[in-house]
Amino acid sequence: MAGPVRTCVGCRSRACKSDLLRVVADRGAAVAGRPVPLRLDDAVGLPGRGAHLHPRSECLELALRRKAFARALKLSAAVDASVLIARLGSGSSPSMSADVRVELRQTVPSARPARAADNKEAGRVDS
Ligand SMILES: [Zn+2]
Repeated sequence: MAGPVRTCVGCRSRACKSDLLRVVADRGAAVAGRPVPLRLDDAVGLPGRGAHLHPRSECLELALRRKAFARALKLSAAVDASVLIARLGSGSSPSMSADVRVELRQTVPSARPARAADNKEAGRVDS
């Protein structure tokens, strides 16, 4: 199936547009002096400049490390990629800043089920 081809801002390889996530800057939610939140365009066609990314945590990390989103989206400020991190299930990478991880924990409190703790609690034997 041929379609428009875009370049992933992470690994810089070209891929069919339908295989890539489209990311836009949520300028409306931006606060001066704070990173500009990124937003996923889930096929709704958000207006404005978009950056394209494989739906993989590796590509997200590469893009963050290179500050590729800011470049692709023509932003002078830093970006807040917590939405993308939540979607792509990363957060274990040492390249991810602690700030972003804190942000992720705050915005997605249910990302990590508390089942492990429950099991530990249930398996504890009080003697
Ligand atoms: Zn990629």
